[in-house]
Amino acid sequence: MNASLQQYKNCPDCSATYSDRVLNCGEELICSCCGKRLKKYYDVSLFQKVWAIVTMCLICLFMANITPIIIFDVSGNTQSNLIITGVLSLWFQGYWPLALLVFFSAIFLPLLHLSSFWYLLGSCCLQKRWKGSFIALRCVNALAPWNLMPVFAVATMAAVVKLDQLGTIEWKIGALWVAVLALSSLVAMRHFDYGAILEYLERIHRDGTK
Ligand SMILES: [Zn+2]
Repeated sequence: MNASLQQYKNCPDCSATYSDRVLNCGEELICSCCGKRLKKYYDVSLFQKVWAIVTMCLICLFMANITPIIIFDVSGNTQSNLIITGVLSLWFQGYWPLALLVFFSAIFLPLLHLSSFWYLLGSCCLQKRWKGSFIALRCVNALAPWNLMPVFAVATMAAVVKLDQLGTIEWKIGALWVAVLALSSLVAMRHFDYGAILEYLERIHRDGTK
C-alpha cells in the first residue's frame, strides 16, 4: 500500500541499508544488523504522554532555578546556592568563560530545548499547524546533546563530596527538582524520533485541521 513511499536509507549506527516506509499503528523499524530502533509509530496518545513529561520537566526546571540546591556552611558563614548563584560568583571572580558555560548548559539551553519540544508536542497533540513547528523540531534535534541537566546533577553530587571536606553541606529542595528534571528529561528524550515526528508533522500540514 505504501510501496510508493518506500525509500532506502542507512542505519545511523552501522550504516546497513534499510527500507524506510510509513508505519502503521504499533509498528516500529528495527535495524536487522545492529538492533537499533530506526523508527517508531507515533499516535496522539503517545504524544500526549510525552507532552505531560515535558511539561513536568519545564516545571522542574523553573523550580530548580528559584529554590536553593544546597546550603554551604564554612565556620559559621552560610551561603544558600541557587544555580544562578554559581554562575554569578564565577563571573565576579573573573571566570567568565566558565560562568557562560554553566549558564548556557544548565539554564538557557535546557530551557530552549524543553520549550521547543513542548511547542512541537503541542502542535502534534492538538494536530494544529502551529507556526514554526518545523523550526522547533530542528531545534530539539540540534539541542538534544546540549540538555546537560543529567550531567549537571552528577557534577553537583561530585562537588558536594569535595565541599563536604571544607564545611557543612545541607541539601535543599532544589536538589530534588534537579534530580527529577534530570530523570524526566532522559525519559522524554527517549521518545524523540526526528524522522517519525517530521513525517507526523508533514501529515498534519497536508491534511491537518487548521
Ligand atoms: Zn544498524
